[in-house]
Amino acid sequence: MGITVGKCGSGAAEKHNYEYDLFVLGGGSGGISVAREASKFGAKVGLCDYVIPSGTGTVWGLGGTCVNVGCIPKKIMHHAALVGETLTEANFYGWDVNSNLPENKWADLVAGSQGHIKSLNWGYKLVLHEAAVKYFNEFASFVDSHTIKTTNSKGVSTNRTANRIVIAVGGRPRYLDIPGGMKDEFTVTSDDIFSLSYNPGDVLCVGGSYVALECASFLAGLGYTVTVMARSILLRGMDRQMAGYIQSNMEAKGIKFKLNCAPTSITKLSDGTPPTLQVTAKSADGVFNGEYNTVLVAIGRDAATKDLTLENAGVIVNPENGRIPTNSRDQTNVKNIYAIGDVADNRPELTPVAIKAGLLLARRLFDGRRVLMDYTRIPTTVYTQLEYSCVGLSEDEALEKYGKSSIEIYHTTFTPLEFQLPMKTEYVCYIKILTLKSDKERIVGFHYLGPNAGEVCQGFAVAIRLGARKSDLDATCGIHPTNAETATTLTITKSSGQQAVHTAC
Ligand code: NAP
Repeated sequence: MGITVGKCGSGAAEKHNYEYDLFVLGGGSGGISVAREASKFGAKVGLCDYVIPSGTGTVWGLGGTCVNVGCIPKKIMHHAALVGETLTEANFYGWDVNSNLPENKWADLVAGSQGHIKSLNWGYKLVLHEAAVKYFNEFASFVDSHTIKTTNSKGVSTNRTANRIVIAVGGRPRYLDIPGGMKDEFTVTSDDIFSLSYNPGDVLCVGGSYVALECASFLAGLGYTVTVMARSILLRGMDRQMAGYIQSNMEAKGIKFKLNCAPTSITKLSDGTPPTLQVTAKSADGVFNGEYNTVLVAIGRDAATKDLTLENAGVIVNPENGRIPTNSRDQTNVKNIYAIGDVADNRPELTPVAIKAGLLLARRLFDGRRVLMDYTRIPTTVYTQLEYSCVGLSEDEALEKYGKSSIEIYHTTFTPLEFQLPMKTEYVCYIKILTLKSDKERIVGFHYLGPNAGEVCQGFAVAIRLGARKSDLDATCGIHPTNAETATTLTITKSSGQQAVHTAC
């Protein structure tokens, strides 16, 4: 799973005079993972988690971004949108739903999703309790490199000392630095949208990355009118060809795009639930004005390091983004202080990455193990209505790293069987595999745009981690009829110039 190095930790038994063997700042994916695992090895562990309200006052329980305002509510809403799409196709399969399709009831969806999240919050408390991790619903800041001041909601502070400290406080959405776009003004973020107490109405999603596109997709799928406004390209850092297909698939679902366009001011035209907002924006074509009910800002996230008084402990942050640089052992510049998850500089902002980093760190610190977190070849999925998943290099990265003559690209479009009866032609489904010719066509990139992309890509990520070659895919029998089997039957190369179309039976 990871990379093995020389001995790192010396176990919970290391002699010290501090109250805790380990104190963790942050009760999200990374924090809970490291705390729980450390406790298994007999470490005395404390953990602090405290949510500062969003601009609209949203707060949540234990579990961090993923559970409360990220992956979990997003996937529930994404699934709700897919259920809606399935309803529109049901009559093609003999279901008598030809009459008017029902509307999605936003309040019911929010209630169901928030109910599930509350159960997860409770579950995490139980997990910590069972692991004998001492949990404090208090805000933590540094007094020195071994002392944490924790402050409760009544303003009462306590100093707690620890031999080792892990910072896993994650990040929070950035707001727009324009009139009307500040934290306490007229926009909402991913901190708010999943629990919005009113139907969002016509939505403008500002930003061109995961959060903006995923939210735009499920909102459109639920029946709202949605526009995406991105100041430059979509999905920076991801495969350009795939980003283009994602845009065209979203457009096919009625989502409008304003690219190379950025808001300059937002004013409230009328109060209400939802309110009416006027957005003024600037693009190469000039000034644009639009009216929306909800402006969802998804322009990236800032590490939640501002109020940690890290300077008291001597921990260095990257001044450009507030994130904490760490070495391959997830250690900061201060020997006994570590940082994992979204707060760590130059690490993928993904839940499974934080969880795995936390587990491995605890094992190194308290069980004498040596395995380091491998931050490469991490699979990821963009949950747009038609999902996209990938692992390894984008085409541009592969060409830049190895040169055009060293890369062979196998690809094809395909039509899922489940698209045939409803004659679903609006989406492009596409698979692309990048191989390194000089290494017997070892796979260096896998890209899949189609139904259930996350489920499809997970297994291929294992194969690629094990060094799979194109010949391994060819030698593997497909599972018929599936979309994933397309990866085992790829014959058309980009260099051949042949049309990349897979004919299904
Ligand atoms: P992001 O990936 O950091 O992208 C920020 C986007 O906002 C970019 O399109 C950027 O444009 C734009 N932007 C930045 N400042 C702006 C401004 N002042 N005005 C207008 N646009 C601006 O942000 P994100 O979508 O919030 O995602 C954060 C992280 O969460 C991601 O890196 C991802 O790892 C993680 N995430 C993962 C998933 C998943 O696994 N499915 C889902 C959601 C989030 P430029 O390209 O021009 O800079």
